[in-house]
Amino acid sequence: MPKGVYKKTKEHCENIGKALSEKYKRGELIIPTKGRHRTKEEKRKISLGNKGKIMSLESRKKMSLAKVGYVTWMEGKKHKKESIEKMRISSTGKKHTQETRDKLSIIHKGKILSKETKQKISKANKGLKRSEEHKLKYRGENKHSWKGGRIIDKSGYIMVQKPEHPFSNKSGYVREHRLVIEKHLGRYLELGEVIHHLDGNESNNNLSNLHFFSNPSEHSKYHILLRNCVLECLKERIVQLKV
Ligand SMILES: [Zn+2]
Repeated sequence: MPKGVYKKTKEHCENIGKALSEKYKRGELIIPTKGRHRTKEEKRKISLGNKGKIMSLESRKKMSLAKVGYVTWMEGKKHKKESIEKMRISSTGKKHTQETRDKLSIIHKGKILSKETKQKISKANKGLKRSEEHKLKYRGENKHSWKGGRIIDKSGYIMVQKPEHPFSNKSGYVREHRLVIEKHLGRYLELGEVIHHLDGNESNNNLSNLHFFSNPSEHSKYHILLRNCVLECLKERIVQLKV
């Protein structure tokens, strides 16, 4: 065992027990069982009954709600920097067993992390290289950030996850409006073929709002035409800009 890491002996535990019971007698201890102190026998039974049990998310939520307001012995206390370092050293290189990992995964499911925690995790994971196996395992639906395979990209286009698509990007996404046209045409779109949104709304991917151009120059010609139309209308005072 590394220096400075101690295993609790039976004697140690008994001492803690004695100290706690004295505190209890003096009325300084808050016992987290509502109103009643459980006997040793009762506690043993509960512990035996709970052995190996994995609680549902619901029960855990209930328990956490029931405990709101109770002060646990670690509450408000923090490990010393020294202790944190010791713990880090003693756990370095150790891996959880599959069983433990499954349990942890159930415990953490549905947990909402604070922005701060997320930042900490992302900082810790920076530069970490994942194996190909890991990447495959946590892809798509298995990814914690899975949003149903539909996202909106920087330009406002809706992207759909289709890693098997020949023109999907590095993350396996394709622009939805292209998929709509492809479904309509019954073939994949060529890279030069452009789809224009008639109402200017990039997230309106109804077939009736999409117009097909066979190449980028046709598409730009259309935009120039549109612009000239607007300019002409302004000149003729058919439309006026509201300022
Ligand atoms: Zn356009």
